[in-house]
Amino acid sequence: MRIVITGAAGFIGSHLSETLLDRGHSVIGIDNLLTGDLANIAHLAGRDFVFVKHDVTNFIHVDGPVDIVFHWASPASPIDYLEWPIPTLKVGALGTHKALGLAKAKGAKFVLASTSEVYGDPLEHPQRETYWGNVNPVGPRGVYDEAKRFAEAMAMAYHRYHGVDVKIVRIFNTYGPRMRVNDGRAVPNFVSQALRGEDVTIFGNGSQTRSFCYVADLVDGILRLAASATNEPVNIGNPHEMSIEAMAHLIIRMTGSSSRVVYKALPTDDPKVRQPDITRARTLLGWEPTVPLEEGLTSTIAYFRQKMGVA
Ligand code: UDP
Repeated sequence: MRIVITGAAGFIGSHLSETLLDRGHSVIGIDNLLTGDLANIAHLAGRDFVFVKHDVTNFIHVDGPVDIVFHWASPASPIDYLEWPIPTLKVGALGTHKALGLAKAKGAKFVLASTSEVYGDPLEHPQRETYWGNVNPVGPRGVYDEAKRFAEAMAMAYHRYHGVDVKIVRIFNTYGPRMRVNDGRAVPNFVSQALRGEDVTIFGNGSQTRSFCYVADLVDGILRLAASATNEPVNIGNPHEMSIEAMAHLIIRMTGSSSRVVYKALPTDDPKVRQPDITRARTLLGWEPTVPLEEGLTSTIAYFRQKMGVA
């Protein structure tokens, strides 16, 4: 197949590109490099991969046939939403419109990177796809949450009105190699702080929970969803829930670091709990994550050591 991936130079986009190439497909990767990095895709040079530097909030021109459009472009870390609120809104809204327009014009399938953030600070736990969410539209995270909610609505409108075959992946917290050292999310922050021997920053008292999925498991789930018949949103994430405090201590232990934990202010609207109900993914896709947390963290820590030049 000939596949377009927006956000191809990002953390998940680059893994998706690589896996699709490994499966024998041809990939056109688009990225404006706002939070993506060419270093993530440098190793794909020489394969059936074309990179186009383009901001997908503007018309997307691709020559020739396209079988699938994966719309992965977006800032994805809370610190990015604070720094880039308008680009975050634009890529989720205008970028989704352009990527859907491309899919419609080419008769291609459309796969949307949505997010557990559509559930906001959830009042249902664990979160099923039928839950409508608890999002603050005017808070600092609203730019991401509402853009992704709009993106889901736009995708469903293209499905219902134009007959585009859309797939909506609600991605829960994911970690792995190629997250940025200065990404700002919990795992990259804790790993880079621990490797430098700096204080590990827990926001709030650390009792808030998340459920972390290794990127290879996530990509497998995304590709199973892309190949499935469903047009319903599907949660893809690891249901293994833990406190942020427990994650900080695990990373300190696994890096062999002498770092201490320090407590900082909790960001506005930080969700108190998060855990995917993956019944739908299990039932429809036969998917569930297989990589144990310590194994995924071992690969992630090794990547950060190499990237940071830490022995
Ligand atoms: N967090 C933390 N210290 C950090 C970075 C994040 O305690 O240095 C917390 C954050 O407040 C949240 C959780 O870790 O409760 C996960 O945050 P992340 O930014 O990874 O993503 P989120 O799940 O909030 O979108």
